[in-house]
Amino acid sequence: MSLKDGQPISLMKTEISSPISPSKSERSVSPFASARPAIPGRQPIALISDHGDPAAEIGKEEAGGQNVYVRQVGEALAKLGWQVDMFTRKTKPEDPTIVQHSPHCRTIRLKAGPEKFIPRDELFDYMPAFVEAFEKFQLKEGTSYPVIHTNYWMSAWVGLQLKQKSNIQLVHTYHSLGAVKYQAVSHRPASAEIRLAVEQEILEKAHCVVATSPQEEEVLRSLVSAKGHVEVIPCGTDITNFRVLPKAEARTKLGLDHHEQIVLYVGRFDPRKGIETLVRSCAISEARKEGKFRLIIAGGCDEEGADGRERQRIEKLVEELKLSAQTIFPGRLDHNILPLYYAAADVCVVPSHYEPFGLVAIEAMACGTPVVASNVGGLKFTVIPEETGLLVSPQDVSGFTAAIDRILMDELWARKLRRLAPVRVTQNFSWAGVAIQLSDLYRRLLASSIMDEQFLSLLLPRPRETSVSASPRVATVAPANVGLTKVS
Ligand code: UDP
Repeated sequence: MSLKDGQPISLMKTEISSPISPSKSERSVSPFASARPAIPGRQPIALISDHGDPAAEIGKEEAGGQNVYVRQVGEALAKLGWQVDMFTRKTKPEDPTIVQHSPHCRTIRLKAGPEKFIPRDELFDYMPAFVEAFEKFQLKEGTSYPVIHTNYWMSAWVGLQLKQKSNIQLVHTYHSLGAVKYQAVSHRPASAEIRLAVEQEILEKAHCVVATSPQEEEVLRSLVSAKGHVEVIPCGTDITNFRVLPKAEARTKLGLDHHEQIVLYVGRFDPRKGIETLVRSCAISEARKEGKFRLIIAGGCDEEGADGRERQRIEKLVEELKLSAQTIFPGRLDHNILPLYYAAADVCVVPSHYEPFGLVAIEAMACGTPVVASNVGGLKFTVIPEETGLLVSPQDVSGFTAAIDRILMDELWARKLRRLAPVRVTQNFSWAGVAIQLSDLYRRLLASSIMDEQFLSLLLPRPRETSVSASPRVATVAPANVGLTKVS
């Protein structure tokens, strides 16, 4: 790893290796440390997302599902009565340090390293500064967070540091797994070994890891560790925004031809997203040969960087395959307008090489658009073949062509998919439903931590000033409700 900001080598070594080896300091944590809610009656919770700024524009470079997840979960938890602080790294000096999204939900941008965009592969060096900035913020505000939910492996490292120092309940969501990613890439970044070690450590030491699909849980067990507690709570989508709209109305609003067959991609420009597979599939599509055909590739940005480079590569491929006249690149689309694009499309394609969950698939289905997706990860959980779309092996060009053509050319059957897709989403993947499940998990963890304290109090004298009733919501959980439903 490279050194940043002139940090001494000894410091970097100590700080990077400490969470990976068993810690002495963990044992020295006082079990009686109590949380002080920032707002009376509201339990504070910290969501940590090192690089996925919940207040950022979605769809830009390295801004995608994680940002959406943290922001939506944060806002939904606030509605359920939590005081939600979402922490991320400040990447632009002009960005406000605190963004208040709703009365009880805000994003806090911590200064950790230079205030500029830093690619994920180079970000780990700044995590010690992130921990320091987080602790300073807590001191300044006079608050502490009894529950910390980390997102992505670098935030997991931050969470593990905080767990060593205070009595927190640590919950983690991976969003992406090095153990899977490195199977498919020839070049591993310098941080690969550390990432794999942290991913294992967080699974074994967090109070709970949230897998967003049963498939992710299986992968964690087979590739990461058999130890640790996992619960499956899916990602969600905003079903008030992503909802069924008449196709004709959407096309009129977007100025799209009513007689074209429209194939849609939405997402980041990243080779692992498989846009190349989609473009090659469209080039040999029967539907394209037979009628009016339109490919819309939405997302990304025009800026330089990995995202821009992949976009240029895809544009060149589109040209080579003589698809330019039939392809539109509308750029990054806001969530206000995205439902119109989903509704206007005949099929939405998610050709990712791997996808831990894949929000785009459920957004499209919520709008009544059938999905053709790679038969990987969370997509196997969300897309029900023959009911809400079709699944194809990743990078299987002819397989994608056949699936896309089938939906485009069998109108009657496609209508059935359009009817069933939104039902699957409203029943299983609303953010409100996801937040209820997460809230329930946090409360069970807090309750179990109190039970531990009560058990310990039989052995140790309890200091009077740190009574658990300092935290009213926690104190109301009946011991009978305590217990984790599913221990793996
Ligand atoms: N997205 C967006 N505008 C775009 C492209 C993507 O708002 O132009 C959003 C999309 O709606 C989804 C997220 O970015 O909510 C992508 O999430 P997903 O899980 O599909 O992929 P990730 O980016 O996490 O790999």
